[in-house]
Amino acid sequence: MGWIVEGSTGRWEIVVGLEVHAQVISRAKLFSGASTEFGAAPNHQVSPVDAGMPGMLPVLNRYCVEQAVRTGLGLEAQINTYSVFERKNYFYPDLPTGYQISQYQHPIVGKGRVLIDLPDGRTRAIGITRLHLEQDAGKSLHDQHDAATLIDLNRCGVALMEIVSEPDIRAPEEAVLYLRKLRSILRYLGTCDGNMEEGSLRCDANVSVRREGSDALGTRCEIKNVNSMRFVAKAIEYEARRQVELLEAGGRVEQETRLFDAVRGETRSMRNKEEAHDYRYFPDPDLLPLVLDEALIERLRAELPELPDAKRQRFEREYGLSVYDAGVLVAEQATADYFEAATRGRDAKQTANWVINELFGMLGKAGLPLESSPVTPAQLGSLIDLVNAGTISGRIAKDVFAIMFETGDDPGSIVEARGLRQVTDMSAIEPIVDRLIAENPGQVETVRKNPKVAGWFTGQVMKATGGKANPQLVNELVARKLGL
Ligand code: ADP
Ligand code: MG
Repeated sequence: MGWIVEGSTGRWEIVVGLEVHAQVISRAKLFSGASTEFGAAPNHQVSPVDAGMPGMLPVLNRYCVEQAVRTGLGLEAQINTYSVFERKNYFYPDLPTGYQISQYQHPIVGKGRVLIDLPDGRTRAIGITRLHLEQDAGKSLHDQHDAATLIDLNRCGVALMEIVSEPDIRAPEEAVLYLRKLRSILRYLGTCDGNMEEGSLRCDANVSVRREGSDALGTRCEIKNVNSMRFVAKAIEYEARRQVELLEAGGRVEQETRLFDAVRGETRSMRNKEEAHDYRYFPDPDLLPLVLDEALIERLRAELPELPDAKRQRFEREYGLSVYDAGVLVAEQATADYFEAATRGRDAKQTANWVINELFGMLGKAGLPLESSPVTPAQLGSLIDLVNAGTISGRIAKDVFAIMFETGDDPGSIVEARGLRQVTDMSAIEPIVDRLIAENPGQVETVRKNPKVAGWFTGQVMKATGGKANPQLVNELVARKLGL
């Protein structure tokens, strides 16, 4: 889905690479035992290590290392058995040590890829350059006090995975597809919850443009602070247009860091881009190089869950679902599990429709996540069985579903308690048809001339029976009575 900016002097291609910071799911921080729980009172989850007290030594959290390896495996990436923690030196009030422990020359994970699913059904691979482990900084709170900035160190030292993509992305929408797929993989793996609002997934977008057909990379700007899927696309689009206008006017793109202003929908200059050498990286003398055994990597590989791409292919193959339906169902593990538990030998397309249209619709309206669905997969399955057995009509089934959603009751008991069984006994329907024919001679005329509109009578019967008549049988009865 290459995305072209039409300039006044020709056509331009967008080139984007994303740097994603993903907070590792772990109870303790990367180098200390302090808790990572979200929402604690400020400065209540800070160990002396996190606060940069003299003499305190970092101790690497093994679980965070395993999480990074799991993620690397999920990104089909090279796992480096040798990696090094380095100090990235800079001053910031919310960084008490004056450096961030990160990885630089030797990251724990090397090249990998993420497949994105394009709207036309094709997939495209976006290269992963590397994934490395690093510490998060604290938070500066600028809006809590009239005259001072307050510092909260709870986040200081929490493990992050920085996941860097190759400049392979060619459109704002591709950046969104990439982020969605990456988030889906992380959530399947249980290595990051992907919550952009709470900041556990943060994204910087590097954007450049070049003349269509050119292979050289243009000068890029790095846009910080694009913290929702919608803003990522907006920020990239705005930035690409800005660069094209600048270049066409004879200007030059300065390599710089820009901030996305979500209110104005524009990017603006924040600072000149710092270079790696500005940070004076050097191996952290408090930490040994990290050496992994192959056995650990193989154990983690063997424990990987079925990931979204593999699951989607299986759903297409095993259940005969369309690429689209399969894609929607596998985006979240919980949805895929729900679908599989509900369908169990039933018509998969029918189950998929119920999940995607009715269940998602109701959950969306109620603002509930699937995990809190009042309707269990087994209950949805029984509802589908009632429809397929002809016990209730498709129309009534939707009403029953709404009641199930409201009350959590089983469909069978709802149907019995409210007398919603489909009427298949034609002796109950016949008088209604007779009455309608007697009362509507005009319609009878019309239908006799054009049998295609006989549905009007069926509709009236359905209305008169509160949707409980079997439409198939009513059709036949009407046709017979009118001699069609
Ligand atoms: P830094 O850490 O200084 O930001 P990196 O070399 O790690 O620099 O690159 C960061 C990101 O910038 C990567 O995602 C990469 O794909 C992307 N990138 C590099 N060059 C370009 C370019 N010319 N246009 C767009 N993105 C680019
Ligand atoms: Mg960067």
